[in-house]
Amino acid sequence: MSYVGPDFEPPQPRRSRRGPLTVALAALVPGALLGWLVYETVGGSGDGDGSGQATVRSSPPSASGAPTDDGKEPSASPAPTASSTSAPAPASGPLKGKVVVIDPGHNPENFQHPSEINRKVNIGTNWKECDTTGTSTNDGYTEAKFTLDVAHRMRTLLEEQGATVKLTQDADRPYGPCVDERARIGNEAKADAVVSVHADGSGAGNRGFHVILPGTVHAGAADTRAIVAPSRDLGERVAGRFVAVTGSAPSNYVGDGSGLVTRKDLGGLNLSTVPKVFIECGNMRDSKDAALLTSGAWRQKAAQGISEGIVSFLRG
Ligand SMILES: [Zn+2]
Repeated sequence: MSYVGPDFEPPQPRRSRRGPLTVALAALVPGALLGWLVYETVGGSGDGDGSGQATVRSSPPSASGAPTDDGKEPSASPAPTASSTSAPAPASGPLKGKVVVIDPGHNPENFQHPSEINRKVNIGTNWKECDTTGTSTNDGYTEAKFTLDVAHRMRTLLEEQGATVKLTQDADRPYGPCVDERARIGNEAKADAVVSVHADGSGAGNRGFHVILPGTVHAGAADTRAIVAPSRDLGERVAGRFVAVTGSAPSNYVGDGSGLVTRKDLGGLNLSTVPKVFIECGNMRDSKDAALLTSGAWRQKAAQGISEGIVSFLRG
């Protein structure tokens, strides 16, 4: 998400009730739990580094396709999109019966459909563009490509643990979906958790990730009162594991160092009736962050960190 466009107000740093310590603590506990779970699930092979820490596979099952800098490409054969679940979840696994919706931000074809994506949709509190093109690095690596890559990696990791995973789009539609439909897909799936994956487009020197939590909104079709608390829990765990696995620091330009920001102006959150957060994984316009975001190995860590946060939330 780049904070450009008529309706986007740069988020006002909010003092999260729980400071960096909470995120750090959130970083520790679930990891050990997940490490054990994953170790159990993937059968404790040589994948792990023996530290007892989470040993999620370091790279997705290899597949053909244009190699990225880690030489591997997330599973090339994208599963059918939102309206259908991906391959049926394995019979067992710690996440059996859990539904996770991943919302890869933007769509690689959005720029071809300016009139469609600029059409306004109702987000309860006001009207906003259907969708936006997203940002890119100075070298042209697009946010829309980044979000799909991370989403595919997350899907593989979560399915390995038995979750049913749905994507809101998989570059298999001409544009969008619009922000209201993105929320609706999670709601209709009765998702146990939804994460919208993005990367920011802010000034050079602005670095780090932040997780966006829904604020309390009750206007029109929007009513987030029931999801504010569970979404904060989900968000803190995602932020905690993201720090632990990627080593990235929380944003140095929003969120007061906590890596957590609360917003009331995003349709994807306002219209959600299930626990949901957005994550801005880094700043594509900062050369140091861009070096991470364009690295397949780092994107695997990002996917692992977000997935571990989701698992920790689902396992309570
Ligand atoms: Zn975005």
